[in-house]
Amino acid sequence: MNAGKRLDALAMTCPSCGQPQVPAMTGSTLTIAWYACGCGHFWSARVRDGRPVQGAPPTPLPSMTPMR
Ligand SMILES: [Zn+2]
Repeated sequence: MNAGKRLDALAMTCPSCGQPQVPAMTGSTLTIAWYACGCGHFWSARVRDGRPVQGAPPTPLPSMTPMR
């Protein structure tokens, strides 16, 4: 096992300052990853198939349907 390598795969861009490849923190799991950027921003992301999923909910809200 190589937890360090797995955490590398979870690295993502800071949503606050745009810093690329912010590594996931130790303690991240297969379902949620935690990040602390050098800018002081702290956030979490859900993990799916070993990759972080950022933002977008899985299903669009009915109210988001464009008017016809
Ligand atoms: Zn940042």
